[in-house]
Amino acid sequence: MKPAPVAYARPTSLTEALELLAGTPDAKVLAGGQSLVPLLNMRLAAPTLLVDINRLPGLDHVMAAPDGVHVGALARHSAVLADAAARRTQPLLADALSHVAHATIRNRGTTVGSIVHADAAAEMPAVLAVLDGHVEVASVRGRRRIEARDLVVGPLQSSLEHDEVALEACFPALDARAGTAFTEISRRQGDYALCGVAAVVMLDEDGAVASARCGYLAVHETPAVVDLPALVGARGPLGDDVVTAASDLALGVLDVEGDIHGTAAYRRHLVRVLTARALRTAYDDAATRTTTRTTAPTPTTGGTA
Ligand SMILES: Cc1cc2nc3c(=O)[nH]c(=O)nc-3n(C[C@H](O)[C@H](O)[C@H](O)COP(=O)(O)OP(=O)(O)OC[C@H]3O[C@@H](n4cnc5c(N)ncnc54)[C@H](O)[C@@H]3O)c2cc1C
Repeated sequence: MKPAPVAYARPTSLTEALELLAGTPDAKVLAGGQSLVPLLNMRLAAPTLLVDINRLPGLDHVMAAPDGVHVGALARHSAVLADAAARRTQPLLADALSHVAHATIRNRGTTVGSIVHADAAAEMPAVLAVLDGHVEVASVRGRRRIEARDLVVGPLQSSLEHDEVALEACFPALDARAGTAFTEISRRQGDYALCGVAAVVMLDEDGAVASARCGYLAVHETPAVVDLPALVGARGPLGDDVVTAASDLALGVLDVEGDIHGTAAYRRHLVRVLTARALRTAYDDAATRTTTRTTAPTPTTGGTA
């Protein structure tokens, strides 16, 4: 199918883009087009105006800062994935990005576009949510910050107003005592997941779990985050009783439904298997990082000139 007739604008300044969006209530922002263009082609979306943001300056950054990784609206998935400083600052981001689609789609699709597209089966909204990240948005009324927990309000529905452009997403940095893991099951590599789990485990000074949480994709109508107090105080290797208590807790929160790709029972089974896998890996990751830090030789200063 072909899209319905649509006007196209390619502004070169943010002000111009925001004015165009404010002046046309059913206008749509076009970023990488990897989700929007299929929707146009299938006529599941029929805006009267596309505002292509690809020529806006200063939005393609991937910046690793002490507070986290700042990803501009025009940074492609592939650029974020390839950024070594971003990987060091928050390894969960790159771990999850390697599961997003295929290389060709990652070369064009944007990480911010994926977040505001708000697909419950997508990796980035769940990762931003489990990390308590946020998005900066702009409109003709000014700028505001939307916390990840307030961002996705329904299936494919974000809390952005129709005339707002997301400028940047911020993924908080990995805490010194934390470890992370990402795992998912999809029918073929690069497909959307049948179930995916992102885990963050924090250890206390004695190496026991201080806090644990998992973010879930493709098993709830929105990306879901579940805090797991059942793990607090546990030590590795995490036993079956501990990870089973954690997945019981998650299944009590998630509203797992079946579809043509997998029954609800199968998806619940995946929640159990992947929750255990992700938590054990995140625990080991935290333990390894903490050990490496405490046993690393202290850098010496001075030396020969
Ligand atoms: C075959 C295929 C497989 C895929 N597999 C996966 C997968 O496994 N996992 C996954 O997560 N994704 C997958 N994707 C989607 C891909 O990750 C897209 O890149 C992403 O969902 C949207 O990013 P985009 O830049 O292409 O956004 P676009 O398609 O341009 O836009 C998507 C939506 O977000 C809005 N939008 C985009 N940017 C902004 C902005 N800065 N401000 C305000 N609104 C904005 C648009 O108006 C539109 O409503 C797949 C896509 C394809 C075609």
